[in-house]
Amino acid sequence: MASYNLFLLPGDGIGPEVMTEVEAIIAWFNAQGIARFEVDRGLVGGSAYDAHGQAISEPDMAKAMASDAVLFGAVGGPKWDKVPYDVRPEAGLLRLRKDLGLFANLRPAICYPALADASSLKREVVEGLDILIVRELTGGVYFGEPKTITDLGHGQKRGIDTQVYETYEIERIARAAFDLAKTRRNKVSSAEKRNVMKTGVLWNEVVTRIHAAEYPSVQLEHVLADNCAMQLVRWPKQYDVIVTDNLFGDVLSDVAAMLTGSLGMLPSASLGAPDAKTGRRKSLYEPVHGSAPDIAGTGAANPIAMIASFGMALRYSLGLGDWADKLDQAIAAVLAQGIRTKDIAGSQPANATTTQMGAAILGELKKLA
Ligand code: NAD
Repeated sequence: MASYNLFLLPGDGIGPEVMTEVEAIIAWFNAQGIARFEVDRGLVGGSAYDAHGQAISEPDMAKAMASDAVLFGAVGGPKWDKVPYDVRPEAGLLRLRKDLGLFANLRPAICYPALADASSLKREVVEGLDILIVRELTGGVYFGEPKTITDLGHGQKRGIDTQVYETYEIERIARAAFDLAKTRRNKVSSAEKRNVMKTGVLWNEVVTRIHAAEYPSVQLEHVLADNCAMQLVRWPKQYDVIVTDNLFGDVLSDVAAMLTGSLGMLPSASLGAPDAKTGRRKSLYEPVHGSAPDIAGTGAANPIAMIASFGMALRYSLGLGDWADKLDQAIAAVLAQGIRTKDIAGSQPANATTTQMGAAILGELKKLA
């Protein structure tokens, strides 16, 4: 039986509440003998600051580096708004992304049939939607130098951000996107702005070359990023995998996410390069939402984003894609039964707490065993 090390960093606010529901699912996997998960827990964000004066301690960083997958809850909250900048809660997440070399951010947009009417778009546009946005996470305009604001005198200033991409950065994100497409519907749409940006020209050139040399059996199309935004709200089902840079990915993944509803439903994964010996990628799985201090401790948090993030870990890091499918089916079944936390209840009152939603999903998963 395969054995994997999972490192859990629940964090702050609702992070520990939604992580508890994932821990129950992990315990069931272990009890059933489906896999052997060795679970360790650490502190990140405000809770780590309270314990160690750091956003993540060195021993916890070492455990994250040695794990097969990191499951991350959420960090932050008003209690830590005034802590020094370099130990603020988000610094823990940024350190993890940097040290684990997580350059590929995966954001699926899946529309569960039972929630299709909650979308701002028409049911036929979103029903059955299943697309994946692969965003380059460590380069581009957020990190490029120079990055300055210069005082020009006369009451004028000049702000500069620099979009920089090198060949290797585009090659590795392109390969990640093509590899993922092969496990899905075999299509990649590469979004850039080659009509007005040199980095767009290079992006297009490199993606085209990697496709021809290494992935000729995958369907590739190029789309201008602004057109991609338009197409996402017009007819998103035309896409399978969209690969794009850090800035466009930031925007497009938020657009895609909102096609399908609440923040409490959205999982994500961040992947690094495959290890030369084992082929395994370093990885971190986290819900898109934050620590939601407004509802922390009330039992109102929706655990689906965290549970679906664990589903992505099963699929992309733990070699259990069939169980990832079953977990998705269990979530869909629970939603179809009308079980709702407050964030997805619409005008109706909520009929499930965090714990009840988690238990209902585990109950459905058990039926699929
Ligand atoms: P947030 O995502 O925490 O919450 C936004 C709104 O969505 C809130 O009304 C919240 O109640 C609701 N919400 C979020 N997740 C939910 C869930 N699972 N179920 C039900 N409702 C949910 O964003 P925010 O309020 O802007 O930020 C709160 C704190 O979280 C801040 O300290 C911020 O810095 C931090 N944050 C952390 C991360 C992260 O850890 N990756 C991401 C975003 C924000």
